[in-house]
Amino acid sequence: MSTLTQEHTDLFIGGAWQPSSDRALTQVICPATEEPFGAAPTGTSVDVDRAVDAARHALRTTPWADSTAEQRAQWMRALADELEARGDETARVVTNENGMPISLARVAEGKGPAATLRYYADLAEGTPTEERRSANLPGRTTVVRRDPVGVVALVVPWNFPQSLTMFKLAPALAAGCTVVIKPAPETALDAFALAAAAEACGFPPGVINVITGGRDVGAYLVAHPLVNKVAFTGSTAAGRAIGEVCGRLLRPVTLELGGKSAAIVLDDADLVETVRGLAWVSLLNNGQTCYLNSRILAPRTRYDEVVDAVADLARSFRAGDPLDPATRVGPLVTQQQRERVEGFIAAGRAEGGRIVAGGGRPKDMDRGWYIEPTVLADLLPSATPVKEEIFGPVLTVQPYDDIDHAIKLANDSEYGLGGTVWTTDVDRGLDVARRVETGSIGVNFFDLDLGAPFGGVKASGLGRELGPEGLDAYITLKSIYLRATDQGGQA
Ligand code: NAD
Repeated sequence: MSTLTQEHTDLFIGGAWQPSSDRALTQVICPATEEPFGAAPTGTSVDVDRAVDAARHALRTTPWADSTAEQRAQWMRALADELEARGDETARVVTNENGMPISLARVAEGKGPAATLRYYADLAEGTPTEERRSANLPGRTTVVRRDPVGVVALVVPWNFPQSLTMFKLAPALAAGCTVVIKPAPETALDAFALAAAAEACGFPPGVINVITGGRDVGAYLVAHPLVNKVAFTGSTAAGRAIGEVCGRLLRPVTLELGGKSAAIVLDDADLVETVRGLAWVSLLNNGQTCYLNSRILAPRTRYDEVVDAVADLARSFRAGDPLDPATRVGPLVTQQQRERVEGFIAAGRAEGGRIVAGGGRPKDMDRGWYIEPTVLADLLPSATPVKEEIFGPVLTVQPYDDIDHAIKLANDSEYGLGGTVWTTDVDRGLDVARRVETGSIGVNFFDLDLGAPFGGVKASGLGRELGPEGLDAYITLKSIYLRATDQGGQA
């Protein structure tokens, strides 16, 4: 692992680097070495006040306040270029913060955010600020305006820190909002790389602010009287708490929360192809991805075959140094997270599960919060590891009798975020996909589409990110009614 360390002493507020009101620093520990990798300021409520004031000021001040979509798109493309140029270094920081395999970090965290910015820059330019409509009232017309919703609090988790920040930041900028970003303390450092990139390409002061801190700082930000909208990705427990606050304040909120998605293997599936695909959709980022298909549903007639194939897959994912490009599974983000995952494996054993791969810590790693990719078979649908989001490389395989039974098992979840269907008959796959209660599902693969909405149903969240729908979440609409005799100039 790298000995590179990063220490940031200042927050990015109002276009300037300023120390936190509390001069203390919080360490970021590398999960592969268990050693400090860097440190970030310990943000406070005073810092939140300063950052929200700066965002509020920028919202109302030239040049951001009067910017056209074309001008904002130019800033966004400049930021995309800047982020792309720094992409490899950012990926390295993320890997040292959370243990993401570097090959994934280079794509998801190094390149992905620039693509999201460019998508929303194009969308901003192609979406008029005003349109005229007239439906049922002759002699009258209505100007429908799309205004920025205002100051947005972006509260993000540690698992894909840059890309999940950008799912919010890009549409917010496209809409003309200003933002206060609060990363998770585990991954506070890469947020400063984003701030430095924004500074380098001349965003007006206060449009993008970065403050650090834990749950208390996040809670203070979410409830701040001058925040107009909250965009949150994280656990369902935190999402419920934030949703309650926003409900009381009547504040728009987008919640991207946990998941427990199912991969439905149909009886005609090509198992070689299926397992190749499951490597991506079930174990990505050391099992710490919200949409992962951690429940694998297999036809009873092929159950043993699927259990063996998934077990072979898990065994082929050997834990290793996440900075090694050959590594496919790195450590879990924190010691606490590993203990949590071990608790789920123990619960699986206690509830009658058969461990067919993994089940413990890798014998050959003497440092780092590693856990072997683990497969549990023969658990009942009510078993703890089948029901709960584990957020680690732990999969369950369950048998089903027929398609209706498979769909019933897939839908028997508190969550509804992702999912896949594996088949050699795409039409059949599509039919099954239509019946699964989820926000997104793939046939024979799963990958987010920047142009299509992503989000969850049930306890997986509220609202959508990405696509034009993701932009709408940062817009407030206003209808201005005009009489024909009074109609002014076109916008
Ligand atoms: P977390 O909920 O503990 O923390 C997420 C962020 O919210 C952090 O910045 C944290 O400091 C802050 N926070 C926590 N409680 C808060 C509160 N009450 N008010 C304001 N801010 C608060 O989540 P995590 O452990 O960092 O991330 C893992 C979770 O995120 C998993 O459950 C995963 O499924 C989910 N996730 C969902 C998606 C999605 O798109 N649906 C994507 C990635 C991760």
